[in-house]
Amino acid sequence: MQTHHHHHHQEHEHRHIDEDMLSVEEAYRQIMACFGPLEPEEKPLLECLGQTLAAEIRSPLALPPLANSGMDGYAVRRADIGGAGEAQPRRLQVIGLVAAGQVSTQTVASGTAIRIMTGAPVPAGADTVVPFEETDEVERRAAGRTLDEIDIRADLPVGCNVRPAGEDVQPGQLVLEAGTVIRPAEIGVMASLGLERARVIRRPLVSVLSTGDELESLGQPLAGGKIYDSNGFSVAASIIAAGGRPQTLGIARDNLADMRRKLEQVAGSDLLVTSAGVSKGDYDVVKDVLTERGDINFWSVRMRPAKPLAFGMLRDDAGAADMDGTPGKPIPLMGLPGNPVSAMVAFEMFARPAIRAMLGRQRLARPVVEGTLTGPIRNTDGRRVFARVEVARQNGVFYANPTGPQGSNILTSMSRANGLAVCPEDLPVKEAGERVSIIMLDWNEEVDL
Ligand code: AMP
Ligand code: MG
Repeated sequence: MQTHHHHHHQEHEHRHIDEDMLSVEEAYRQIMACFGPLEPEEKPLLECLGQTLAAEIRSPLALPPLANSGMDGYAVRRADIGGAGEAQPRRLQVIGLVAAGQVSTQTVASGTAIRIMTGAPVPAGADTVVPFEETDEVERRAAGRTLDEIDIRADLPVGCNVRPAGEDVQPGQLVLEAGTVIRPAEIGVMASLGLERARVIRRPLVSVLSTGDELESLGQPLAGGKIYDSNGFSVAASIIAAGGRPQTLGIARDNLADMRRKLEQVAGSDLLVTSAGVSKGDYDVVKDVLTERGDINFWSVRMRPAKPLAFGMLRDDAGAADMDGTPGKPIPLMGLPGNPVSAMVAFEMFARPAIRAMLGRQRLARPVVEGTLTGPIRNTDGRRVFARVEVARQNGVFYANPTGPQGSNILTSMSRANGLAVCPEDLPVKEAGERVSIIMLDWNEEVDL
C-alpha cells in the first residue's frame, strides 16, 4: 500500500479526499468481530425470561404423563357403544368416579363405565370417553334417578376424547434447542417438565459514561451554558431494552484526571459505551485518554446522523492494579457521538447488535419493512441517511411519515418515531411517494400496525 502510493503518486502529496469514511457495513463488520455469546449461568426459571437457552432441553418425562380425558363424561369401552344413538341408547353400569389428580384402581369391564372428569387418567379397560351431553345424565338428575347406570346416546370412534400419554412430549424428546429465546411460552414448557432452573447465556454488563464539561446531572439546577446529561439515560435505557444490564458511571469532565478516574470503574464490564468527544478533527481529552488506555479507532462512518464513532479495545489497567497484579481482559469500547439523536442512532446500529450477540441471539437486526414515504428525505453529502419516521399501516400498506426537523440534536423527533427510514448513500433524495426500507424500532401495541 505504502510502496504503491510512493511509486505512483510521489508528486501528489496533498490529500484530495476530505475524509476516509467507513461504510456502515465495514464499521459493523469490524465491531461485530469482537462480540460473541457470553458464558452460561443457571438461574430460577422465571428470571430466565428474555435470555437465550445455553443448552438444549430434553424431556425427563412424558406429557401428558398418563392417557387422560379431554372432556367431562364417561370412560367406556368403544366396543360397548357401537351403533348407539338417540333412538337406540346403550345402557352401561356406572362403577365409579375418577377426578383429575386421582388414579382409578377400578377396571372398566364390558358393560360398565366410570364417570370421569377432564384431565383425569383414563381407567384401565376404557378406551373412549363419552361426554355428558351424549348421555341421559341431565334427564336422570332432573328426574331424581340414581347415576349408577347411564344411557349412552352416541357411537364415538375408539380413542375419542382421550389424550394419549406422551401426545405432546415423549420422554427423552428434544423439547427446546440451545439458542432458543425464552418467552412466556418457553417458561411454561419448562415448568410443565418440572424444571425449576435453566441454563441461559448471561446478560452483558454495559458501562455507560457521558463526557463533557457542559453536562449537568439530573436533580441539579441548570447553570448558564449547561445542559442535562440525556445521553447517559437514553443509552442506559437502550441497553436495558436490548437485553443488557447498564452500569452508569455518570459524567466525566473534559480533563485527563476525571476521564482516567472514570475508566477505573469499568473493570468487569463486557462493554463500555461513552458519548461525545469523538468527532474527527476536534481536540478532545476523551480521545487522548482513550488512546493512552487502549487501542481505539476514531472513525467517520458514512451515515447521517452519527458520523463520528470510536471503537476499540480498552486495556484493563485497573485489573493490573489488583492485588495479584494480573491484568484484566480488554474491554470493548464504543464511543458514540455526543448529539443526542446521533448517540441513539449509533447505539441502534452498532451497540444493540453487539449486546444481542453477547446475549447469544441469532437475529441481531431489527425487523425491516418496505413502505411508502410521505415526505422527502434529503441526502446532501453522500451518506446513508436514517430518517426518523412514524410508521403507520393503512389498508395493509406501511407509510413512513417523517417526524419533523431531522437535526441530530432534536431528540423529541426521535421520541415521535417508531422507525428509521433509509435513504441510500448514492441517492441525493428519496421523494414523497417512493418506496423505502424502514428499520422498525418498536413493534408494540401502542401503535396501530
Ligand atoms: P461533542 O461530541 O462533544 O462535540 O458533542 C456534540 C453535542 O452533543 C454537543 O452539543 C454536546 O453538548 C451534546 N452532548 C454531548 N454529550 C451529551 C449528553 N450526555 N447529553 C446531551 N447532550 C450531549
Ligand atoms: Mg464535548
